Amino acid sequence: MIFDTHTHTSFSSDSKMNIKDAINKAKALDIGLIITDHMDLNYPEKDKFKFNVDDYFKTYEAYKSPSLLLGIELGMDTGFEKENASLIKSYNFDQVIGSQHFLHGFDIYDSALYDAKTKEELFRDYFLEIIASLKTHSYIDTLGHIDFISRYCPFDDKEIYYRDYSDHIDEIIKLCISYGISMEINSRRLGNPTAFNPLIDIYRRYKELGGEYVTIGSDAHYAEYIGSNINKGLAIAETLGLRPIYFKDRRAEYMK
Ligand SMILES: [Zn+2]
Ligand SMILES: [Zn+2]
Repeated sequence: MIFDTHTHTSFSSDSKMNIKDAINKAKALDIGLIITDHMDLNYPEKDKFKFNVDDYFKTYEAYKSPSLLLGIELGMDTGFEKENASLIKSYNFDQVIGSQHFLHGFDIYDSALYDAKTKEELFRDYFLEIIASLKTHSYIDTLGHIDFISRYCPFDDKEIYYRDYSDHIDEIIKLCISYGISMEINSRRLGNPTAFNPLIDIYRRYKELGGEYVTIGSDAHYAEYIGSNINKGLAIAETLGLRPIYFKDRRAEYMK
């Protein structure tokens, strides 16, 4: 079964999606779903981007099935690795996405982050931060949206060009491979023609360096976007010879 491995429901601070609507949309598309609500323990505002995990499992247990799995999107940040690790150990998540949502103490979404530095400086800092986070969060299953900064940065050209940051991107890829972490193809930006080719270059390099597995997720916060551009992600995987997987009980399963 094809899975959308990255979706948010109302346990995420920035989503109101009802799990029943998510399930109905997935059924209509004949795909499976992994719910991965946001948990950013480093988020400065109390209760924002955090949820009660007991409530999450209690509320969603009834919906669990071979095609509906319960995961988490964990905000990685050095200094939070112990809290994050103990959270992950305490619950039976199916899949753990590790994501870099913060840089220099700013939410990457926050325009104030972009005042002081050039694109190249900030992108380098961003990759170095991912490297530091991976080294302290080697227990995650898949690295979320490597192109997250391209969503929100204010630069005319928002794309990550592999050739400009090859040293840092190679290090990220090598760390993922050495820790057994797969890379996510986040399909949210794949509908954008200017984003598509630069992203393929990154996953091509992943394959060249020995990467084998990718998760593919829409990052939907609304039911209508469930499964959005998943086919484009699958096409990238097929073109490059990468195997699409999802995680169940923290173990990789092939998408079929
Ligand atoms: Zn994210
Ligand atoms: Zn997400």
